[in-house]
Amino acid sequence: LVEATNVHKSFGAKEVLSGINLTVHEGEVMCLIGPSGSGKSTLLRCINHLESLNSGTIVVDGRIVGYERKNNVLVELHPTAIAAQRASIGMVFQHFNLFPHMTVMENIIEAPRGVRGESRGVVVPRARQLLAEVGLEDFADSYPGRLSGGQQQRVAIVRALAMEPRLMLFDEPTSALDPELVGDVLQVMKRLASSGMTMIVVTHEIAFARDVADTVVFMDGGAIVEAGTPSEVIENPQHPRTREFLSQVR
Ligand code: ATP
Ligand code: MG
Repeated sequence: LVEATNVHKSFGAKEVLSGINLTVHEGEVMCLIGPSGSGKSTLLRCINHLESLNSGTIVVDGRIVGYERKNNVLVELHPTAIAAQRASIGMVFQHFNLFPHMTVMENIIEAPRGVRGESRGVVVPRARQLLAEVGLEDFADSYPGRLSGGQQQRVAIVRALAMEPRLMLFDEPTSALDPELVGDVLQVMKRLASSGMTMIVVTHEIAFARDVADTVVFMDGGAIVEAGTPSEVIENPQHPRTREFLSQVR
């Protein structure tokens, strides 16, 4: 479903991604781990074209993200075409980025209504169903400020799911949460994974990666140092840098 080929990304003279190749099949979960500054967030942002690429391609669902080929040259898509591509890719950030002046329900139905033009009659029941699945059916009319961080993050996940995405990207979704609130969010993500959602998750939760990931990718310095199953990368890391990183985060 996702195929990155030789992705390069620089900010000014600084190369942040230096030739990333990865494949995520439909229904698989890939966890990205690595030290601060290794390029994890930048890679996620490239996958839904929040960042342009310097070279290489990312294909999602059979289509090049952000670009089209014209006379064998890649040309950036029109913003409306980029928005249409993004509509099928859900993203959840460390900071939940809910709209504070909208209720939970309004937050969730905003994009399905505005971007997909769906009617309230279609979207509201879907939103209620999704809220119930994450245990928040009683909070539809609350404002985000009244919710705990863990509840807000579950709403952010529901908001992304309300667009019925083919792919979900998570960038350290539990890093900003108090420790006692992390479990609920990870449990929602686990259930989403077992429901067959294709997911790419940047996380420092090594136990989550070990339990849920099909593939674990360790990045350092803008490159993939090691990739494989959790038992390969987490239990039997081959590269000294992977071992060092794991000894620090566990
Ligand atoms: P962390 O674990 O701290 O979130 P990360 O692996 O997600 O780190 P990135 O946020 O992808 O790392 O950043 C990789 C590098 O790119 C860093 O050196 C960062 O300073 C740089 N960088 C990221 N975004 C920009 C930007 N918009 N302009 C300039 N440099 C940037
Ligand atoms: Mg990051």
